Amino acid sequence: MVDGIIFEGVRKSFTTIDGETVNALNGVDLEIEKGDFVCLIGPSGCGKSTMLRLLAGLDVPTEGSIYIDGSKVTRPDHDRGLVFQDPNLFPWLNIYDNISFGLKVRKLFKERKNDVDEFIELVGLKGFEKSFPHQLSGGMCQRASLARALIGHPKALLLDEPLGALDAFTRMNMQDELLRIKSEKKMTMIMVTHDVDEAVYLADKIVVMTPRPAKIEDVIDVRLSQPRDRNNPEFIRLRSKILKILDFAGKERDVEYNI
Ligand code: ADP
Ligand code: MG
Repeated sequence: MVDGIIFEGVRKSFTTIDGETVNALNGVDLEIEKGDFVCLIGPSGCGKSTMLRLLAGLDVPTEGSIYIDGSKVTRPDHDRGLVFQDPNLFPWLNIYDNISFGLKVRKLFKERKNDVDEFIELVGLKGFEKSFPHQLSGGMCQRASLARALIGHPKALLLDEPLGALDAFTRMNMQDELLRIKSEKKMTMIMVTHDVDEAVYLADKIVVMTPRPAKIEDVIDVRLSQPRDRNNPEFIRLRSKILKILDFAGKERDVEYNI
């Protein structure tokens, strides 16, 4: 596969301030097809953010390589857009200036001015261009953060628990927004989530990871058509399957209560 994203024998270890070695990823092999929506799910601290940071080029693997459309990832580039749980907007800039900031830094603003309006409209923030981040809800700030990542026309959008801080209803609306944006812009999306329901609702492929040092435990193809029904029997079957893999289902769970 030349098109798409490939993790080839990726290992990552860190040295802590005490000189201890932490193995975050232990030989990750993964192929992601162009245009797929992939969710990474696994226990906290298992290396999901590390995988995204390596793919973003913000850090380098200790061993192994990552390729995007045949080119080895060596540094950050605009072909990969990043969205985090915290929208990370500049509080002193209004929404329009936050979204166009990257284009201005790259001296592309004049040429791509129309893009700013297009992406503001795409994420549903038309009319809020002059608002500052503190005047908007968490969901709206996250929409701005999405537009800021999309403005560079990335091949892949890397989302690290982007909906984690939102209330349940806003979160479900934002899931549909992500799918709408994906269907319009046809990019690859890779999203870290702790929410099994969210993964089954969104993903073409769910990568389930083991506790640290992380390896891939299972890759599950979700063959349900979009839009998905959370009450569909196959949806429920997949949700139970993943909960079982993650050890959050079944009576055999080791808990210290009996009601
Ligand atoms: P996740 O996103 O799955 O919760 P992370 O990828 O953030 O996990 O981290 C995986 C492991 O690597 C954790 O144990 C974390 O403490 C460790 N780690 C991540 N970044 C560093 C770093 N810069 N220095 C030392 N340890 C790190
Ligand atoms: Mg993380």
